[in-house]
Amino acid sequence: MTRIAFIGLGNMGGPMAANLVKAGHVVRGFDLVPALRDEARAAGVEIAASGSETVKDVDAIVTMLPAGKHVRAVWAEIVPRAKAGAVVIDSSTIDVESARAAHAVAAEHGLKSLDAPVSGGTGGARAGTLTFMCGGSGEAFAAAKPILEKMGKRIVHCGGDGAGQAAKICNNMILGATMIVTCEAFVLAEKLGLSHQALFDVASTSSGQSWSLTTYCPVPGPVPGSPANNSYKPGFAAALMLKDLKLAQEAAQSAGAETPIGAHAAELYEKYNEAGNEGADFSGIIQYLRTAKSN
Ligand code: NAD
Repeated sequence: MTRIAFIGLGNMGGPMAANLVKAGHVVRGFDLVPALRDEARAAGVEIAASGSETVKDVDAIVTMLPAGKHVRAVWAEIVPRAKAGAVVIDSSTIDVESARAAHAVAAEHGLKSLDAPVSGGTGGARAGTLTFMCGGSGEAFAAAKPILEKMGKRIVHCGGDGAGQAAKICNNMILGATMIVTCEAFVLAEKLGLSHQALFDVASTSSGQSWSLTTYCPVPGPVPGSPANNSYKPGFAAALMLKDLKLAQEAAQSAGAETPIGAHAAELYEKYNEAGNEGADFSGIIQYLRTAKSN
């Protein structure tokens, strides 16, 4: 049984920590929000007085925080207090630069570290079926894997420090762009008098096939479980898609990669968010595309 610290008990971190408790680990957690601490306590998490209090004598530390600045600040506080030999895992979605800076802090103090962002959303966090995309040394991956397996079902070692974050933002850039063009195809089909089902039947078995179409179809009907059938309730909120597309653009700029379609996808999601849709599912952008005059 491994003793684990868990910092950031929000929409994702709360259920992830609860799954570690269910798997028989002693979990000591902390969040800035008192109500989230109470919820985690009810799920069996021991609540500490602060982030740095969580890490005393634990074998592993998981952070699940909003953005790079939070991860940098929390790791600067906890890493010097962690036990020698512990592994520190960050599962937040953050910029590659902050992820590498966090690894450097861990290395300075002789700790193993892993960037391990997830896909699968809050449903996957609750069900323990997340995919973890991991960056770090083989030794860090080996130490973290048995813990990540209690919260997810696919644990992929993508490469060295920052490779997990790189995989996450590249994947989500594909997702954002394919969702937009899938929506555009349905809007064009509507104008051409082609039914949603007919386009789906052809494209889902042809070269236009993608996850955005076959799992997450942005119009109601063809895929009964997609958010389009539930008034575009998330799912995966448009605000989070915009966050990931912006991270991809920051990374592209600093790495000198040309990503014109990714850049345009970020602009369109920015407009969709600005129109008051931050909390809607990202596939709801079809409603914006139907009415947008010029983008
Ligand atoms: P959230 O805002 O619900 O949770 C983050 C928590 O971190 C909050 O409860 C906040 O109080 C806490 N926090 C911030 N600073 C802290 C500090 N110094 N000490 C302790 N706690 C602190 O966000 P979330 O939806 O759980 O997402 C967490 C991360 O996972 C984000 O990086 C997000 O992009 C990523 N992610 C989210 C989803 C999703 O569907 N929600 C899917 C994949 C990845």
